[in-house]
Amino acid sequence: MKLSIGHLYPKLLNLYGDMGNIITLTKRCEWRGIDVEYDPIGVGDRIREHDLYFIGGGQDRQQIEVAEELYKHKDFLLEERDKNTVFLGICGGYQLFGHYYQPFEGDKLKGISLLDAYTVAGKKRFIGNVTVETDFLTPATLVGFENHSGLTYIQGETKPLGKVSVGNGNNGQDKTEGARYKNVFGTYLHGSLLPKNPNFADYLIELALEKRYGEKIELSKLDDKLELETHNSLIGKAY
Ligand code: GLN
Repeated sequence: MKLSIGHLYPKLLNLYGDMGNIITLTKRCEWRGIDVEYDPIGVGDRIREHDLYFIGGGQDRQQIEVAEELYKHKDFLLEERDKNTVFLGICGGYQLFGHYYQPFEGDKLKGISLLDAYTVAGKKRFIGNVTVETDFLTPATLVGFENHSGLTYIQGETKPLGKVSVGNGNNGQDKTEGARYKNVFGTYLHGSLLPKNPNFADYLIELALEKRYGEKIELSKLDDKLELETHNSLIGKAY
């Protein structure tokens, strides 16, 4: 089997080791004999069809350059979304999956509306560990690290990834973290996210393979002792 991953603007949005998510997806496929085609996409590049797209986080400055470039591909990426292609956006990348991100200073950055969500800059920077209770993963928890001042609000058919039991999540008010619509996922969880959330990594791989091959594919089990020990050691921990 094969899986193709498009990495959106890794030279600009790759804060706090978000590349670790690509490494995890790639390794968890290779350990199962699934070949991975990795396509780093830069400013000015054409975006080809992929099974999964990933975009990391970054400071407001890098987001301005990426927002301008990403918006040129909005229609294509909306079509990809509607073909059930998988997207994972982290923090700054997540914010650009919504309708807009209004930074503290300067103009509003247009998003590509993969998610029915919007982000406005908050006065406080949320920094620390986060635990999220989901209703679609086994184990149900997601753990990670947040560092953002943006406050994201989700609406319509876009639903949160889960409820925050530790940390701030989307906006520190409604106790939600992250967002999902169809197979588009956004989250504030850096860390990087997937190495210590193998449950979510495999969930995304299975969705991407289902999109490619048109049938449900159950991945073989891996020895996740170390990953789950790390995961469990962080549940409920603020510091
Ligand atoms: N610049 C955005 C914010 O501060 C995103 C930060 C990030 O990607 N960690 O909210």
